[in-house]
Amino acid sequence: MSTLWDRTLAELQQSLPSQDYAAWIACLRASEPGGGERDAGEPGIGETGAGENPGDLTVEAPSVFHRNWVRTHYFDQIQATIRTVAGRPVPLSLAVNTDVRTVAVPDAPRPLRVPSRAPNPYAEGLKFDSFVVGSCNELAYLACQAAADAPGQQYNPLFIHGGVGLGKTHLLHAVANAVRTRFRSYRVLAIGAEFFLSEMVRAVRRQQMETFHERFRRVDILLVDDVQFIAGKERTQEEFLHTFNSLCGAGKQIVVTSDKPPAAIPRLEGGLRSRFEGGMIAEVSKPDLDTRRRILESKASASGMELPSDVTTFLAERIQALSVRELEGTLTRLRAMGALSDRPIDLALARSAVGALYPVPRIRASAERVESVVGSALNIEPRQIVSSERTARIVFARQVAMYFMKKLLGMSLSAIGERYGRDHTTVLHAVRAIDARRRCDPEVRRLVVMLEEKL
Ligand code: ADP
Ligand code: MG
Repeated sequence: MSTLWDRTLAELQQSLPSQDYAAWIACLRASEPGGGERDAGEPGIGETGAGENPGDLTVEAPSVFHRNWVRTHYFDQIQATIRTVAGRPVPLSLAVNTDVRTVAVPDAPRPLRVPSRAPNPYAEGLKFDSFVVGSCNELAYLACQAAADAPGQQYNPLFIHGGVGLGKTHLLHAVANAVRTRFRSYRVLAIGAEFFLSEMVRAVRRQQMETFHERFRRVDILLVDDVQFIAGKERTQEEFLHTFNSLCGAGKQIVVTSDKPPAAIPRLEGGLRSRFEGGMIAEVSKPDLDTRRRILESKASASGMELPSDVTTFLAERIQALSVRELEGTLTRLRAMGALSDRPIDLALARSAVGALYPVPRIRASAERVESVVGSALNIEPRQIVSSERTARIVFARQVAMYFMKKLLGMSLSAIGERYGRDHTTVLHAVRAIDARRRCDPEVRRLVVMLEEKL
């Protein structure tokens, strides 16, 4: 059974802009009895000993700043939502608990109450050119582009799967938007799977199944987000299979997304599973360090935010193994903190923006470890890296090692220089050289990414 707070979160996720929700709301936790430091004196809500009465709700934020921000910007809306969900007023208080960590935001399918033509400004903004491509999503991206270039001709159906916040909805709407632009006469229908369900239920009640069938079978391209939602719902799956067959039979493109591959969706009807498996299946997975960095750069520049490169690197390293949505949320928070405290966006501010939310990652690699990992990848003895040998191979390995000591270990240029008996300008030159080659030489980029993952 989901708690009052879980249901409130689900409601808030629908009603707030997704970036606000990700930045401020998703990580709030209903407190365990006795946890957290109470927010005494919250006008009108705290005085009655909030949290001590069994019916009260105490919600914890990861920092004082975070709590204050929520209190100023979202308190009324949260309280109103709780009242709606609970069906009665529930006293709410906000507390701080620095142990609160973010977890992946449950991704309730976005309600698309509107059929194809009603504008949905959020979805309209999701385009291919704002999608950052890395090895984690390249195949899905290319398959989506192919589907948008020649709908129904190849990769049909196209099935995109992957975890929460990794870009499935983004890609789905990027296809829809590209087709709308390129093939103006095409009828494009992009919906959440639960829209299909609710429309069907309504049609059944009103005995308008003919209209329902007609409506979905008339389209030229059908895109259904979060199709796992209809698994286990017998009638809906049956109707969807019919729609699917009639569209595919007529050569119309179908794109679906899901949180899992077809074979792993519990209670997915066999006919649908085999249809999905008969098409193209592509996964989006968690972005690696380099992709995280490029996503941060792209999102920051899209919102006119100046992000110094050490801050980008710091955020990309710290916010690991999480979704893209969390990268966005952190940027939003960072920008708000900068504006609010009138401070430039620098490392210190970034540290305080993520400090409470993301733990310091695993123990850092040492300089020796960098040399041994770089050496073994390039087939060179670590002692050759430290030596004064100047063959091209060894110079390159040494430069790569210097690069990682600077970028990953944060060692100073002179400390690195000392290690190799060289001065800091040589080290700076090496770091810049690798950085530049990483950008333009795919071979070097692959090597750097591979080493980063190892280190
Ligand atoms: P999903 O549907 O997989 O849960 P979304 O498509 O809603 O995830 O993505 C979450 C957020 O992250 C959206 O704001 C989306 O624009 C952004 N996003 C995800 N992947 C990328 C990417 N590769 N490049 C740019 N933005 C991305
Ligand atoms: Mg989605």
